[in-house]
Amino acid sequence: MKTVTTPREARRAIDEIKKAGARVGLVPTMGALHEGHASLVRMARARTEFVVASIFVNPRQFGPKEDLSRYPRTLEADRRMLEDLGCDLLFHPNDADLYSPADRTRISVEGISDVLCGAARRDHFQGVALVVAKLFNIIGPDAAFFGQKDAQQALVIQRMAADLDIPVTILLGPTVREADGLAMSSRNRYLDPESRSKAPAMYAALASARRRIEAGERDPAPLAAMMTGTMRAAGFDVEYAGAVDGATLEPLERMAGTVLLACAGRIGGTRLIDNVTLRVSGAKVEEIVLEFPEWSRYV
Ligand code: AMP
Repeated sequence: MKTVTTPREARRAIDEIKKAGARVGLVPTMGALHEGHASLVRMARARTEFVVASIFVNPRQFGPKEDLSRYPRTLEADRRMLEDLGCDLLFHPNDADLYSPADRTRISVEGISDVLCGAARRDHFQGVALVVAKLFNIIGPDAAFFGQKDAQQALVIQRMAADLDIPVTILLGPTVREADGLAMSSRNRYLDPESRSKAPAMYAALASARRRIEAGERDPAPLAAMMTGTMRAAGFDVEYAGAVDGATLEPLERMAGTVLLACAGRIGGTRLIDNVTLRVSGAKVEEIVLEFPEWSRYV
């Protein structure tokens, strides 16, 4: 696996590959890789001939009081993991490689960036959209792979790519969990033993909401109250918990169609998020990963 740090080097490596007719898959990450990231690299490996992973802790998506400086950085272990997974190219720029001090361009995806995780983190999705647009322009992937765990992020990126006519297929992989249900996250390593033992309550809240929907509940209000209560009882400071429309992220009046059960909260000072996405049609309820069929035409 080759490692490149500048956009120019990345383009040079990929131009040659594309001339040879290979399709390029991109897995953008912030590093501190775990099995969730690995599953996306495997997905890319199975769908495209040349797999690029990026590791970049993007300062633009962190708020002033967030954990940018202490975000885990484990480059050597990450590199070994990517190598073992058969990744072809690692793009690992530093801040100055990606951002010019003269940069003035911002990308704002309206509406879906302002709710859920965007309500409390005002500029977060602007930062995400900008860095992913830059990565798409530098790498020119045929397909890019994201995790269902960050469903809102995937929606924002898909909308950005569609609105800017970026010819990339966005594909999502299912959320990879620890044995006790906790969604894998680079931030899990911040959890002290007590918080780690309580953290699975977030998934327990989602799983019990799902069971109630399977049992026929169609009113979102009692489910939101139950999810909030379950998380609070475990010690979470709840940021949001409830059901929204899986396409628009608007509140639901009744459970039907694509339903995103989503929650966020802090435990022991660490912010965690999780979701379960369901397709509800009549009495039938099934868990899904989001798909963007209208834009899945490149791979
Ligand atoms: P991050 O490094 O946290 O920015 O994540 C990079 C990519 O990995 C994003 O597309 C995430 O949605 C995805 N990801 C993170 N955690 C998981 C997980 N537990 N399961 C599946 N995908 C994940």
